[in-house]
Amino acid sequence: MRLILGLGGNLDDPPAAFQGALDALGRFVRVVTVSSLYRSDPIGPPQPRYWNMAALLEIAVPPVELLDRCQELEAAAGRDRSREVLWGPRPLDLDLLLAEGIIVLGARLILPHPRLLERPFALVPAAEAAPDLLHPLADRTLAELAAGPHPGLVRVGPLHG
Ligand code: ATP
Ligand code: CA
Ligand code: CA
Repeated sequence: MRLILGLGGNLDDPPAAFQGALDALGRFVRVVTVSSLYRSDPIGPPQPRYWNMAALLEIAVPPVELLDRCQELEAAAGRDRSREVLWGPRPLDLDLLLAEGIIVLGARLILPHPRLLERPFALVPAAEAAPDLLHPLADRTLAELAAGPHPGLVRVGPLHG
């Protein structure tokens, strides 16, 4: 199953955390394509600007198992949920943005991510990684849904610039 992972962070060294997370995930899912790195204005309380990117994964495990691995990787990058405020600063945030052809309404996992369409910092990198992927609720491709302009979102370049 094709799935888009969104990566974000604004503490410590997010690009290094993204690389570490993708390397670790690559041991049990296939990382098909990755987007460029982006910078975006934070939502929530005042805090540093974010780094963002997205990756197209090919997974053979249930998405909720991927969520488990992602939450372990967030903790390994120094994220401590018990000390967080809503949408506050963190070194690594891994969101499952969309899985091709399925809708999930679980207690721990909702797919597509409910706030994807209102967030250019998630949608634009996702569309770069997989422009042809259909959003199963909007029934439009990511490329169509991500059409700009998007002030405040800056494409920085490849992860290995
Ligand atoms: P937002 O969800 O608005 O991006 P956030 O990423 O800051 O906010 P977190 O604190 O990282 O929120 O996650 C809160 C909970 O969201 C997680 O414990 C997880 O169970 C749940 N969740 C539901 N759907 C998803 C999804 N598609 N991807 C990641 N987490 C999800
Ligand atoms: Ca998030
Ligand atoms: Ca999250």
